[in-house]
Amino acid sequence: MITGHFGLAAMVKSAQRPVPLWALMLATVWLDVIFVPLLLTGVEYITPAPGTNGGYGAGVIYADYTHSLLGALLIAALTGLAAAHWWGRRAGTVIGATVFSHWLLDLLVHRADLPLLPGNLGGLPRLGLGLWQYPWLAACIEGALLLAGTFLYRRAALRTGAAASRANLVTGLIAAAGAATLALDLMGV
Ligand SMILES: [Zn+2]
Repeated sequence: MITGHFGLAAMVKSAQRPVPLWALMLATVWLDVIFVPLLLTGVEYITPAPGTNGGYGAGVIYADYTHSLLGALLIAALTGLAAAHWWGRRAGTVIGATVFSHWLLDLLVHRADLPLLPGNLGGLPRLGLGLWQYPWLAACIEGALLLAGTFLYRRAALRTGAAASRANLVTGLIAAAGAATLALDLMGV
């Protein structure tokens, strides 16, 4: 889920004008950004889910540090603290909550591969509702988040008197980026 995360960022932006949109976009995918170097170094890894080709949404993702419940909460808290340092406490809270929203949205789509504790300490049960097993359903949810996000963002941008051309441009960019990632998802990239 990438599209849905971006949709959520646009939604948050519509209600929290002082926080920069780029920061919210980055916050929604921050756990995945940290996941990339850990994936490349083999600390976290993906195995194909049984009976699939292992493409996007068809893997069992062992992101045991970045995507453990406690790990995600810690990363969200630290990122929120850093954001509060730059943009004030309210923005820090918004950014921290947005970082953690990634884990909640991932909980919907991931197979049961999200551990509670970093490194799956204690071998506790892993979580995940597995919507990725129904790609069209997952795509509909992501598309709905994107539509809601772009709509709310555009409405808020126009209401604050921002230049309509700029509001339209950013709305278009969000929609285009979202549609592109959604298309890639459905193609199984
Ligand atoms: Zn993720």
